[in-house]
Amino acid sequence: MANNILEMKNITKEFFGNVVLKGVNLEIQKGEVHILAGENGAGKSTLMKILSGAYKLDSGEIILNNEKLEHLTPISALKKGISVIYQEFNLIPYLSIFENIFLGKEYKKGLKIDTKREIQEAQILMKKVGLEVKATTLVHELSVAQKQLVEIVKAISNEVKILVLDEPTASITDKETKLLFSIIKDLKKENIGIIYISHRMDEFFEIGDRCTVMRDGSYIGTVNICDTNEAEITKMLVGRDVEFQRLHNEVVDYSKKVLTVKNLFYKKLLKDINFDLYKGEILGFAGLVGSGRTEIAKCIISDYKKTSGEIFFNDEEMSSRLDKNIENGIVYLSEDRKDEGLILMHNIVENINLPNLKQVANPFINTIMMSKKSKQYVKDLNIKGGSINQNVVNLSGGNQQKVVIAKWLYSNASIYIFDEPTRGIDVGAREEIYNIMYNLITEGASIILISSDLVEIQKMSDRILVMKEGQISSIIKNSDSLTQEQIMESAL
Ligand code: ADP
Ligand code: MG
Repeated sequence: MANNILEMKNITKEFFGNVVLKGVNLEIQKGEVHILAGENGAGKSTLMKILSGAYKLDSGEIILNNEKLEHLTPISALKKGISVIYQEFNLIPYLSIFENIFLGKEYKKGLKIDTKREIQEAQILMKKVGLEVKATTLVHELSVAQKQLVEIVKAISNEVKILVLDEPTASITDKETKLLFSIIKDLKKENIGIIYISHRMDEFFEIGDRCTVMRDGSYIGTVNICDTNEAEITKMLVGRDVEFQRLHNEVVDYSKKVLTVKNLFYKKLLKDINFDLYKGEILGFAGLVGSGRTEIAKCIISDYKKTSGEIFFNDEEMSSRLDKNIENGIVYLSEDRKDEGLILMHNIVENINLPNLKQVANPFINTIMMSKKSKQYVKDLNIKGGSINQNVVNLSGGNQQKVVIAKWLYSNASIYIFDEPTRGIDVGAREEIYNIMYNLITEGASIILISSDLVEIQKMSDRILVMKEGQISSIIKNSDSLTQEQIMESAL
């Protein structure tokens, strides 16, 4: 097609026998925002790393402006006008903004670098994207959103033809997202082809022109955004229809309290919290971010020391020691899996077994049992990422979350507190996490589900506890007729 600037044809790639791209196609036109969609582990980042020369392709073709690109390296790809902005960025923290921008293509004055000119030019480019700091600022002093803007400036300083943004809004605020979108719209006018990777379906419709969907390393198809809808894209993503269906919990036993929280106060953040959790129940915690939901969880497990109040587990006062509570079977799955949940540089086996050493080290560490258990969880939870010896850092977000869940499932607890378990996770993996929760309650556990996703709260909860500014504003029995508006009313 005449308008294509980029064509990737039939790209394949394997890592140590694990085929992660199985003949993927991608065509990008001038001035379009092309959404690249796919669940965690579908192969999007790998495809982009091939485009940027970071990985070598096994077979297939890359054609840029009718020229076949061979033996791409990160430097040659950049020279051809291909810029990829990764989630983890590619900036040198202890250099200034302008030094990062002109790294490898410095302006020279005689033998010396012409810093004055670099600073001036950097400042002009920075203004274009609304980055209002000094070009001499060190990169490590910048916020995530500002670093992203530096990356964009770096790209446009290179006469970029193809700009790839890999989940650019995953860790920036809504306001920063708005700015990013207006920059993207400007770049479109300059005929740059933009490849946009995201999990947020609302963004596809806000910013996208076309969308290519990948699944399990395969090319599924390309659609025009104006001719499609969420249901169609979801079906392409997961390979089947996904409907909203409320969980019908037949195991909850309202005659058996497993947890009672009485008059709980914590600093100025929680005021007089009272509720019960029953055997087999999923109790949803709704409310705005900052309304105190995570604080309740942390007070229950004694990660935070409550100011006053009582907490009973099976009618016995809970220990004030975190480790004792874990041992007694109350676990908290953090919302911040990168900081609290996982040791990224360790492999799947080590991460799953770490909190469960009492079971596998009796008295000697039983590595065979560790591998066997890990393999079972990888299978049960459908953790994708090659082998159990894969370092967790190489797994996609959804699969990392499943490793967090696996390590706590292993502990056979009776109360699980899930804090935002599906944030940043795609539809298919979400369903698997819901299935895991269902299996837990049928095996006799109880669950507190903290979530900002009201669809998730409605789908999974038996009762919904709504928090507002550190207090419980209502506890609602879930039903098919309950609306999101009714829940929100209590939260606002
Ligand atoms: P996505 O970006 O769509 O979430 P990725 O491209 O990151 O997916 O991953 C696709 C698959 O390739 C995953 O199973 C992942 O574990 C695997 N993978 C990615 N990079 C490497 C690597 N350097 N070594 C081994 N496997 C990898
Ligand atoms: Mg990725």
